[in-house]
Amino acid sequence: MDYEKISFYEEILKQYRIMYADKDVPLSYFEIWTGQCCTLRCRDCCHLIPKVKQRIYDIEALIEDYTRVADVCDIECLSIVGGEPFTHPELAKLLRSVKDNQRIKSAKIITNGTIKPNPDIIAALKELKGKFEVHVDGYRINEKKAFDFFELLENEGIPVQLSNYKAWKWKRLDPPDGVTFTPEQTKRNFEYCWDKKCVSLAEGILHSCFRGIVSEEVYGLPMNDYEDIRINSYDDPIELRARIATAIHRNMYKEYCLKCSGMSRYNYDEVEPGIQMTTR
Ligand code: SF4
Ligand code: SF4
Repeated sequence: MDYEKISFYEEILKQYRIMYADKDVPLSYFEIWTGQCCTLRCRDCCHLIPKVKQRIYDIEALIEDYTRVADVCDIECLSIVGGEPFTHPELAKLLRSVKDNQRIKSAKIITNGTIKPNPDIIAALKELKGKFEVHVDGYRINEKKAFDFFELLENEGIPVQLSNYKAWKWKRLDPPDGVTFTPEQTKRNFEYCWDKKCVSLAEGILHSCFRGIVSEEVYGLPMNDYEDIRINSYDDPIELRARIATAIHRNMYKEYCLKCSGMSRYNYDEVEPGIQMTTR
């Protein structure tokens, strides 16, 4: 990271220690990952799941971690994602923790609908009624399964939405020919990117965007203490709030943006959602 960015972060850290001494950091959207396993291998997966090691995260640690963040942030919507979250054998435990957490006002889970939920998960989803919604992404490859999943939940009276690949396009985020963007290009990509608000947590580290989770493994872009916050490293809630607010600051691009075309209207590289990779 260059000196200009470090000076910027040090300055706003000082300001945020004062600003968030006794108030929570607002998070309009907070995404928590259950792991890095998926039943599909989408070539243009913005989470880069087919390119990382398949792993299931420890559910107790995840519950502790997101609770810690919820204690110091004002979260509008919590989103449970994977990879594919229904691959997690202890998903019901996580769902019930969301139900019991009074700091979480609304939540959703995003799935590709390829795994039929077991009766315990159905029961946990029903218990969340009024606070929770299920989003099913249907692509050409999983069209039937996604529809069956949607129908099953609808018949159970669980709030559910189905997105169909025919109605929308994905923006491709991987840089063309694997280039690394210059800081100037990255600033512009970041400025207009609407996913910079997609605050994401995985394995105890919080990032302003989901690409922060995987960019070290995929692109070799190292994490740092300003943009990738190890939430258990800060016992003092004021310091934790200041660190989170700094990491999600919207006027400074993140190191992991150097390998991303940005989710904005200026990224014209659009593709059909859910096209599968043909090689391993
Ligand atoms: S379904 Fe596709 S886009 Fe979604 S996490 Fe899996 S590989 Fe990524
Ligand atoms: S430009 Fe940065 S914030 Fe936007 S999607 Fe890419 S990595 Fe995330």
